[in-house]
Order: sequence, then structure tokens, then C-alpha cells
Amino acid sequence: MIRTRFAPSPTGELHIGGARTALFNFLCARSAGEEGRFILRIDDTDAERSRPEFEAALIDDLRWLGLDWDEGPGVPSNTSCRQSERGALYRRGMDRLRAIGAVYPCFCSEERLSALRRDQLARGEPPRYDGRCRRLTPEEVARRVAGGERPCWRLALPDQNLAFDDLVRGRQSFPAGSIGDFVLERNDGTVTYLFASAVDDHLMGITHVIRGDEHVPNTARQLAILDRMGWPHPAFAHIPMVLSPDRQKLSKRTGSTPIREYRERGFLPEALIAYLATLSWTPPEGAPLLDLSRLPASFSLSAIVRSSPVHDEGHLLYWQRRAMERRGGARLALDLAAATPTLCPCADRLAPLIEDMLEETPFLPDLRDALAFLTQPPEGERSPWMPALAAALAGAEDWSPEALKSALGAFMKGQGLKGREFFHPLRLFLTGADKGPPLPLVLFAMGKEACCARLNGGS
Ligand code: GLU
Repeated sequence: MIRTRFAPSPTGELHIGGARTALFNFLCARSAGEEGRFILRIDDTDAERSRPEFEAALIDDLRWLGLDWDEGPGVPSNTSCRQSERGALYRRGMDRLRAIGAVYPCFCSEERLSALRRDQLARGEPPRYDGRCRRLTPEEVARRVAGGERPCWRLALPDQNLAFDDLVRGRQSFPAGSIGDFVLERNDGTVTYLFASAVDDHLMGITHVIRGDEHVPNTARQLAILDRMGWPHPAFAHIPMVLSPDRQKLSKRTGSTPIREYRERGFLPEALIAYLATLSWTPPEGAPLLDLSRLPASFSLSAIVRSSPVHDEGHLLYWQRRAMERRGGARLALDLAAATPTLCPCADRLAPLIEDMLEETPFLPDLRDALAFLTQPPEGERSPWMPALAAALAGAEDWSPEALKSALGAFMKGQGLKGREFFHPLRLFLTGADKGPPLPLVLFAMGKEACCARLNGGS
């Protein structure tokens, strides 16, 4: 059985990095078929920054990408998948740690902790708690609690190296003393992400924790928690951070775009999935990157590379073109018709025109704009020969693009017109644009009746 989870904090929108983490967790679980479960957990222990609207948006984006989950929001269950609603489970866990003396109360003030951090940084040391309250006697603790002080609770780390084998990065070691005793329960009684997540991963039966490599130091801490609870370790795969083109951490400032904006721009979910899949994963030759239902069979954590991938909009655009081509003109015409009901009457004739336009215009909203002339005739100058063309076309028996090509050529010749005296005014009159797809495809899409009516001066 493989059980993975994506555990976003609903403190902002879903971006490329988070979506990739979700995808890899999804693929890992689905690659096990019936034996795999993908779980969506909402890590909302940060009450101040967590917002229901961010959670709703995350869910919406994940659904749009097609990353459906087996357990999580919207799936009936006896236990909540929201950390804010799992407090009783964490309290039970803390009681257990208190009972075995694995945690101790800490009364250090914010001021003392900031001064400590400042001094350590000034000495070039990594900031960490110095363990002062670990040495308090039970009497001292009782006296301070009786005096109204509320402690937080820290894990008493054993004086030994912390190490684990990462499925992507290999052996990860943290020498004894490099990590300070950290807080599991704040002095308001709420628990920290580090503790909640370790407890949840165990209680949810997570077998593989796949997440960004910024969490490597957290893993060392969470393993220490699991050890004190007497719980087994899941496997860990830390995937490398996605970098901006200038090799900075990908962030709003360095060009990270929320998935929502890609959606609004007209990117297809298949395109984003294919793109995300190639960030850090080397798929086997011929892997069906544009087909999420078949992709898991190609996935393996061992094919994740350790070096950081660079976000490349050009590459994403490449996949957008392939995804649009794969949908094909007929399906895209239906998608367009669904979004623009007035296009409906000619949806079935749009396919070849759309296919011709895809390389230049690989987004549905842009295609819709570029094809607006089909429903809103542009105001243009009618050349004197246009009614005659209407009459010639009205008699055409074959309205296929090939036949239209010959008919237009024959008409031009018959009128003694040069190419630019004929095609340019005709295109401008029918489409309102200087350039565009081949006119026979335009005429085919318009249909005989509409085309002749326009050339004649009707609509
Ligand atoms: N809520 C954490 C985050 O969004 C999840 C980390 C994890 O996967 O454990 O970074």
C-alpha cells in the first residue's frame, strides 16, 4: 500500500512549486493502482494567515488540474483533514510526550529568544534554542506556573546525530547539537506545524512524504518526534526547489505565476501537468505526459533528479501547443462554442480553421477573439467585385476548403485581378484583419449562406 499526501497551507494561492508537489504525490499514489491512496490535508495550524478562501481556491485549482484525492475535503470521513479541527489528536500526542518526559516547559520570553538569535548570528552560528529551560527543576516549573506564567513545550532532543535516507537526496545528516530543542506546543495551547504534521503523517498512515527540499531540516525534527512517540518512519523524497530563470527561488518577485492566472490565460490543465511533470522528473521515453490517466504507470520516484529545475515559460508554452493540438480542432470548436454560444451554428465547420491557427494562437480566449468576425461582421469597405463573387460562390456545389480555394482562384483570374487586389481586400472585409489563416478555411467556417450574404451587403 502506498499512501501519499499533499499538505498545503491555505495562506496563499497554488503556484508552480506546490502544484508540482501535488502532482508527484498524486502520481506516486496512482502508480500503485488499487494499492495507492492520495490524500489532501489542509495544514492550517497558522490561524492568522490561513483563510477559507485560499483553501477553496486551492481545491478548485487541484480539481481543475485533475489531481483528485481519495481522502480530504469533500470526501466523507469520520476525521477531519483540516489540522485546525484535529486538536484533540494533537493534545493526546502531547500528553503522551509529557508523560514520558520527552518534552519540557519553556518560559523564555520573546525578547530573550530574539537576543539569543541575534548573538548567535553575530558569532556566525546557526540560530537555535540553547536549552536553558531544560535545566529547570520541577519545583521551579511549579513555582512559575503557580505565578501565572504559561510555558510553551519543547522536545528534548537526544544528544546524538539525526540522519535519514532520502529517496532523492540520499543520506542526510544533522550533527548532534546543530538543531536546538524546538517548540511543539505554543503557550496558547496550540501545536506547531512540525508536531501536527508528524502526528498526522503517522495517524493517516502516510508511507511516502514527498515535498519540497526546503523541508529537509523539518524532516530531521519530525523524525525525532516520531522516535519519541515510538512510531515508524515513512519514506521521504525531497524534491528540488523550482528556480526562476535567474536562478533565484521562484517567488512572486521572480516571476512565479499562480495556477489560477495560467487558467485565466487559457492554458489547458493537460499542458500544465505535462510541464510540471518534467520539472525534476525524467520521464521514460514515450511517457504519455499529456494524458494524466495513463501517466502514473510511467512514474517512479527513482527517476527524480536532484538538481533544481528552472521555470521556463517557453517550455510551458510548448506543452500548451501540444495539448491544444492533441485536443484537436473538433473538440476545441466545441470548447469554444461552449464558451461562446453564438459560435454554435458553425462549430462543426470551425475545426480546420482552428487547427490552422493553433501554432500562432494556442489559447482558447485568443482564438475566440480572433474568430469574433464570424459572429460580429467587421465594418469594412466592400470592393465592387464582391457581389459578383457572392453570385459565383452561391452557385458552388462543393463548399469544401479545397473547392473554395479553386473557386477563389478562378474568380480572381476571371475578373483580371492580381493577388493583392483580390485576397487582401477580401480578407480585410470578411475578417477585419490584415493577416490570418487561409481564406478558404475562413469561408468554409462561415458557411455558404453567411458568406454570400455578407459579400452581398447583408449580414
Ligand atoms: N504545509 C506545509 C507547506 O505548505 C506542508 C509541508 C509538508 O508537506 O509537510 O509547506
